[in-house]
Amino acid sequence: MKVVLQNLTKKFPARGKKNHGDVIAVNNFTFEIPDGKLVGLLGPSGCGKSTMLNLISGLLKPTSGKILFGDDDVTELPAEHRGIGLVFQNYALYPHLTVRQNILFPLQNLKGKDKLSKEAMEKKVVDAAKLVQIEELMDRKPGELSGGQQQRVAIARALVKMPKVLLLDEPLSNLDARLRLQTREEIRRIQKETGITTVFVTHDQEEAMSISDQIVLMKDGVLQQLGRSQEVYDNPANLFVAKFLGTPPINIFSGNVSDGKLYIGKDAVLNTSGVPNMEVYVGIRPEGFLLSENGSLCCAMGGVEVMGRDISIVSMNEASLNFSIRSIISSDSKVDENAAFVHFDLKPNKVLLFDKKTEKRITF
Ligand code: ADP
Ligand code: MG
Repeated sequence: MKVVLQNLTKKFPARGKKNHGDVIAVNNFTFEIPDGKLVGLLGPSGCGKSTMLNLISGLLKPTSGKILFGDDDVTELPAEHRGIGLVFQNYALYPHLTVRQNILFPLQNLKGKDKLSKEAMEKKVVDAAKLVQIEELMDRKPGELSGGQQQRVAIARALVKMPKVLLLDEPLSNLDARLRLQTREEIRRIQKETGITTVFVTHDQEEAMSISDQIVLMKDGVLQQLGRSQEVYDNPANLFVAKFLGTPPINIFSGNVSDGKLYIGKDAVLNTSGVPNMEVYVGIRPEGFLLSENGSLCCAMGGVEVMGRDISIVSMNEASLNFSIRSIISSDSKVDENAAFVHFDLKPNKVLLFDKKTEKRITF
């Protein structure tokens, strides 16, 4: 079931704040979540991700705009009639109920023609438990489970009614690093197996990029960019998107274009014919540097970190907006850590230019 958001806006009244307007948590958002796909909704804390999810679920009513499930306008439909499954960061299980009873709970609440027989309910509970691989834990209480197991129960409970849309709000945030990785792969497997249209909210760019068919990046309630992870990483629409995606993060320099050449400080580092003379931010991905004795960009050597497959060179340049520049090169390269300077050539497709005034991307 595809989900369509049309000019969706949610304002919260400003409370106790003089001279401040309403908080616009979601601002005129328009996009479509394709049927059967997993969309990663990504952005910094406070950018409106949870508000967006709660609008899709029906727990919140939009100030304006529309939500469609398939061709049906569900904007006015209460949450319980939308056919959604919800999973939160804090699991929200009933502590006094067993795993089996927790998963069963949404089915027991079905009324009228939707009501199921005891046997049908039991089968659905077992199927959901199998899907998340917790069959052997059915008689335990949540307090007797690890965080990862509790989150699996929460996912099983969200899936037991076979929702049309699955909504996950930072579901991995309470798990340790290893479990986070494992559970995220599990969620992807389950999503693919069931084909349920899914929105996965996270502030973690790596998590979103690795799990999603498509990522949607938002800032201050406003859609910044959407697309496949690699597309957005390679072609960020603006400086914010470029800085938000990638570890280590993109290196940003102050630069200018003059007569078809890009300058960082005094160094002419790249031909940029077609770009008018202007002040720019230059973004260079860590993998965009090539060690070269006669390289066009000269930086002060800071140090070298060996990371096995790769080497990370830390260097400094007056035009860099960050204290240090991080470049990643193959461990086959020979680097003199004690040299005063290091010279780089740049891979043109890893160099991104942004208008200094608008921070929008300039292609060349
Ligand atoms: P995120 O999930 O991305 O961290 P939220 O959707 O929770 O962000 O919040 C977005 C913005 O809306 C924040 O500025 C937050 O303070 C505000 N906000 C969220 N819920 C409410 C509410 N019930 N009342 C007032 N402001 C709210
Ligand atoms: Mg949130």
